[in-house]
Amino acid sequence: MHLSRRHFLATSAAALALPYGRAWAATTVAMGPVRIDSLSDGHLELPLDFAFADLPEAEVSALMARHGLAAGGLTPPCNLTLLRDGTNTVLFDLGSGPDFMPTAGKVIEALEALGLTPEDVTHVLITHGHPDHLWGLLDEFDEPVFAQAEYMIGQAEFDYWMDPATVESIGEERASFAIGASRRLEVVADSIRKLADGEEALPGITARLTPGHTPGHLAYEIATPEGALMVVGDAIGNHHIAFERPDWPSPSDQDPPLAAASRVALLERLAADSIPFIGYHLPQGGIGRVEKTETGYRFTGEI
Ligand SMILES: [Zn+2]
Repeated sequence: MHLSRRHFLATSAAALALPYGRAWAATTVAMGPVRIDSLSDGHLELPLDFAFADLPEAEVSALMARHGLAAGGLTPPCNLTLLRDGTNTVLFDLGSGPDFMPTAGKVIEALEALGLTPEDVTHVLITHGHPDHLWGLLDEFDEPVFAQAEYMIGQAEFDYWMDPATVESIGEERASFAIGASRRLEVVADSIRKLADGEEALPGITARLTPGHTPGHLAYEIATPEGALMVVGDAIGNHHIAFERPDWPSPSDQDPPLAAASRVALLERLAADSIPFIGYHLPQGGIGRVEKTETGYRFTGEI
């Protein structure tokens, strides 16, 4: 397996004058005929409570010190996965698009850095319907960005976001997520393919239901001649707690106990079979493996 990391940083005076840089990075893994790139859509800016609200203060202080976190908040990266096998150009998730946060929605620039345009993408495989994964479906004129692509999502995930009752049941702070998701899925509703757990999305790419973060969250398992690789989306949502204490409930998950059960089962599999994976919000392109420790797991940036 061959790995390279490339980091692109726009250093024009104009870019530096902004509160955030126009920065993106790509990490490339070659597995036989399959080439996988992790692309940056930018990053999010979130209050610490998003990840830590339910934890004791002493635990939070210790975690922040251990991971060098600033008191002002979290700035998780957003890693999209791009797979090319010579026939298909497959994008996993769509990024935030223009309407969610000014620090995210950069995937088109990341594709450009690889010499690709949105029209080159043949398939879009969606892990779940949250804004930073789905809202990039539409551009600022409400036109689909990846106009040539076939879309796929979990059946349960599609049904959840398209249910008119979800905007009420999801809670006030996520009501805008429901409105934004249904508006975007509506655009592709006639053609989007809905996947069942264990169904093959494309030859060698299998949907794995990992519910809890959202009701129909999917990970995607990619089989190559050189072994498997898993796109885990937000089933492993951070590197501060999810590995050390995977069984702890996270307020970023919509059903924290169910998400914790999915996370524990997924980590068990990834560690037992030493499967490399890409996490949407994990550091350094999000690619790595896990090793079991005394009490939980350790994320390694190694492939
Ligand atoms: Zn999410």
